[in-house]
Amino acid sequence: MIKLKCEKCGIDYEKPAIFKKWNDENPNVFFKWSLKFCDNCRRDIEKKALEKLPEVIKTLANES
Ligand SMILES: [Zn+2]
Repeated sequence: MIKLKCEKCGIDYEKPAIFKKWNDENPNVFFKWSLKFCDNCRRDIEKKALEKLPEVIKTLANES
């Protein structure tokens, strides 16, 4: 496990060390957020990101 500090609420939390390895090999938002935010804050951020998704899709559709 690696010890991390949530960038949003400042709580200390742990994640399996393999997450960091996977993120280095294949960076994606799931691992990035897992390594930056505790589970509670990450769920919050993911929820907000998903709520914005329809707008993003609309923008992309209009631009193509
Ligand atoms: Zn947090």
